[in-house]
Amino acid sequence: MDRVLLEEQLRELPIVQYEFFETASLTFSQRVRAVCQSDCPRYGTSWACPPAVGTVEECRARCLTYPRVLLLATMSEVADIADLEGTLEARADHEEITRQVNGLLRDQGVETYPLSTESCAICQQCTYPEGPCRHPDRMFPCVESHGVLLTDTMERFGMDFQAGGNVVTWFSLILYRD
Ligand code: SF4
Repeated sequence: MDRVLLEEQLRELPIVQYEFFETASLTFSQRVRAVCQSDCPRYGTSWACPPAVGTVEECRARCLTYPRVLLLATMSEVADIADLEGTLEARADHEEITRQVNGLLRDQGVETYPLSTESCAICQQCTYPEGPCRHPDRMFPCVESHGVLLTDTMERFGMDFQAGGNVVTWFSLILYRD
């Protein structure tokens, strides 16, 4: 991978922070999966979410076949951060940036496995569980669906979920192998 070229391209995008690191340093936790199951209305409704993505151990094993990670963070300002629906609509720009960066890596012949925010929203109605995913190449499972405890990684790089006011910080992990 030509990292110098990639970093030049990253600096042209509205990314507030990016970090490269080893996949082995990610923390996978069954507790994250338990929160998906108990707190998220998307649990069991999408190919991008558990249980469709597999067990945490299966997700971890899949992730570790990609030895490196590129973490991306973007920010967006919303009208009212307490309005969950409105806030989630604002993630479209972050998803597009994740898609662009994933494309930049793939243009270099790098194999990638992107994990992004929340749940897939490409189709109005997900085919899960009746039929196969309509867009497996464009669908990004969410970070938490794989049991990744992102707070550990953010602490390591001095990042914060809380930017203050109505500013939301979004994160993606693009796992990759050359
Ligand atoms: S691309 Fe469509 S079918 Fe596939 S996970 Fe997303 S919403 Fe579901």
